[in-house]
Amino acid sequence: MSASGLTAGGVSASGVTAEDARTGLEEQGVHYALASFVDLHGVCKAKAVPLHHLPAMLAGSELFTGAALDGVPQDVSDDEVAAVPDLSSATVLPWRPDTVWMASTLHLHGQPFEACSRAILCRVREQAARMGLRFNLGVETEFFVLRRGADGSLGPASSADTLGKPCYDLRGLLDNLDWLDELVQAMNALGWGVYSFDHEDGNGQFETDFGYADALITADRVTFFRLMAREITRKHGLIASFMPKPFADRTGSGAHFNMSLADLESGTNLFTPPDGTGSWVSPLGRQFIAGILRHAPAICAVIAPTVNSYKRLVVQGSMSGFTWAPVFICYGNNNRTNMLRIPGAGSRVECRATDSACNPYLAAALLLAAGLEGIREGLDPGEPNLVNAYRLSPEERARRGLTTLPRTLGEAIEAFAADPLGREVFGEAMADAFISFKREEWASYHSAISSWETERYLELF
Ligand code: GLU
Ligand code: MG
Repeated sequence: MSASGLTAGGVSASGVTAEDARTGLEEQGVHYALASFVDLHGVCKAKAVPLHHLPAMLAGSELFTGAALDGVPQDVSDDEVAAVPDLSSATVLPWRPDTVWMASTLHLHGQPFEACSRAILCRVREQAARMGLRFNLGVETEFFVLRRGADGSLGPASSADTLGKPCYDLRGLLDNLDWLDELVQAMNALGWGVYSFDHEDGNGQFETDFGYADALITADRVTFFRLMAREITRKHGLIASFMPKPFADRTGSGAHFNMSLADLESGTNLFTPPDGTGSWVSPLGRQFIAGILRHAPAICAVIAPTVNSYKRLVVQGSMSGFTWAPVFICYGNNNRTNMLRIPGAGSRVECRATDSACNPYLAAALLLAAGLEGIREGLDPGEPNLVNAYRLSPEERARRGLTTLPRTLGEAIEAFAADPLGREVFGEAMADAFISFKREEWASYHSAISSWETERYLELF
């Protein structure tokens, strides 16, 4: 089976040929097909073809140079990579039904390109499959929807969205129901199974939650979701933002990863604790947690990948209550201060440090690889943290052995560079590209002089 989901004869696992797919899409009124791939940030890029060219596109006709993208390690002198679409991901754009989007894996010389984000997740997914495991993932999408005022300033879409504690506010939700309705209906028409949506804790902040699925499907959906949320809100004159912390005085946007491992054959959730033991999660789940905790500082660079991410990962700013974002490398029960939470009945592990700017393929790949290492080595995560870690003094945290996640992108990227797991998972070329891109991002930020600095220091001395 090729990356397009088609066999050499051009027939998909479900028996659909490329020509059948073309005819079916033509009957639905589709004129254009997009071979979509992502850059280092997980942002969609694409080559577009008229529909009659779909069979060629599925066979890998769409060539381009990775050198044109952020963080794709190719030189302008290198051979081009091919975007080979996965037919099973075909999604007719809900806001533009004459165009179909397909997540693609990059290929070089007929083989998956080592540094392709989607190929990286596929590789770790295969490792899990060799262990008889399937990685299921549900991602909670938090984001801001903003309106630009006449003076250029950005504020919530609704002028009434001003509460100090706006979380779950019904009036704030109802005021935004036009675009939310369009977005939620589109998600459900695509079969994503939205099960709830709400106004989140920042003015102008929302969350739309949909069903979990195989991690590759979820990563494709999160990638597509950001595009769709931006396009649908734009039609309403609004701006959707997935920046982790757009406002200093409001909570940030997480993308909590809800993870579990299932038996590849039966689909049984292997994180469910055995009956009557009173545990929150199975022994396998504990090992998975231990693997992630072992590599947490390096993982942080990938799941919280921007300068701005570290302004979200704080205990408390001048916002309503807490940030709700974890700062500590620990796990526990339904306790939001832990990096890893085991919510409710305990059949999944939620990573709360992940933010809405992550590349979901790379984030899922690294979390899974760390968890699998924990299983292979039979690691023990130690005692859970049951207390509100935000409230502990630094001395008390030290006494309990609670360490913190990196405090800046600079720290996080050095932790990534120092941990061999990053290279193992990303491959040499992508690990180098990620490290040099992120070091440069940090250096560029650090060399800018902010208004905070001039206000504080200009006339102080
Ligand atoms: N917005 C919070 C974050 O940055 C999370 C709030 C919640 O628990 O839903 O992670
Ligand atoms: Mg939330």
